[in-house]
Amino acid sequence: MEQQIKITTTSDSKLKDIDFDNIPLGKAFTDHMFICDYEDGAWQNPRIEPLEFIPTHPAAMALHYGQAIFEGMKATVGKDNTPLLFRPEENAKRFNHSAARMGMPSVPEELFVEAVKQIVGVEYGWIPPQEGSALYLRPFMYADEPFIGMRAATSYKFIVICSPAGPFFTKKIRLYAETKYIRAADGGTGEAKAAGNYAAAILPTEKAKAKGYDQVLWLDANEHKYIQEVGTMNIFFKVDGKFITPSTNGSILKGITRDSVITLLKDKGFEVVERPITIDEVIEFSKEGKLEEAFGTGTAVAIAMIEAIGYNEELITLPDTNPVSQDMKNTLDEIKAQKREDKHGWITPVS
Ligand code: PMP
Repeated sequence: MEQQIKITTTSDSKLKDIDFDNIPLGKAFTDHMFICDYEDGAWQNPRIEPLEFIPTHPAAMALHYGQAIFEGMKATVGKDNTPLLFRPEENAKRFNHSAARMGMPSVPEELFVEAVKQIVGVEYGWIPPQEGSALYLRPFMYADEPFIGMRAATSYKFIVICSPAGPFFTKKIRLYAETKYIRAADGGTGEAKAAGNYAAAILPTEKAKAKGYDQVLWLDANEHKYIQEVGTMNIFFKVDGKFITPSTNGSILKGITRDSVITLLKDKGFEVVERPITIDEVIEFSKEGKLEEAFGTGTAVAIAMIEAIGYNEELITLPDTNPVSQDMKNTLDEIKAQKREDKHGWITPVS
């Protein structure tokens, strides 16, 4: 790396205050953060410092025009307690894909991966050792230039914070197929991990929860029938022995877990078809008794098994057993804990 990351550590660690068996989800943060400034057309002063508030000008452009993107990744511990990352270069690539769509500067992949590795190296003691738990990493970038006016900002911050996480969604989830609100339209920002995508999803998600569902199943913007993804996950259906997942079409986030699961399913000899799939087809498969399993994939949960999908007046219920979903979950967990051979070279040890 061209630039050295300067590390300043705290003498007042909060690690002793955390109970890894009862982690307050999303609320506990580690002692340090990585931070780097984009000024004068270049990333400057990469550093790891004690985590603290970031002074922000009230005209910071991210607050007004929403130039803000993020990533989500996890560090786990493997053999000999080595900290491990899962396909970090894929997060770096997707981060830059998001940045490009939002008119933001790219972060050299090497800097992104090095930042993540080094913060994990510093916060190593915060990785919960329990199976299914991990240190969640949140790299993000936002426009901090104080300016009122519509154009790309000229200054940004790239930051990585870390939050220990226990196992997510241990229960099966119920989805609400949304016919009024949409997540992403052709030509929009659906393929970017842009903060605004999540902002627009909050109201529909709250409404779905009020109806007794856990997550929204997003349908396409034009016809409200093609399935896109679910909450913050991609979706897979097992139909008559084969797997179907919506093809990424510019409106769907290209999940790294999605890509990994496609590979793992093929390894197990399953056929995986990436194609547009409608909610009506899923109803039809269910009525014909062909819908065997359905699950969501994402970094936070790895695999979330689906129990039921509500759509207008219909409720599609999935069979109780989901052997392949469970097998995928175990396989991913075991690869991430180095308990299973990493034959695709997905694991990056942090030395
Ligand atoms: N879709 C959305 C909208 C997401 O936020 C996420 C989480 N990053 C995913 C899918 C799953 O992506 P990944 O497997 O890379 O976590």
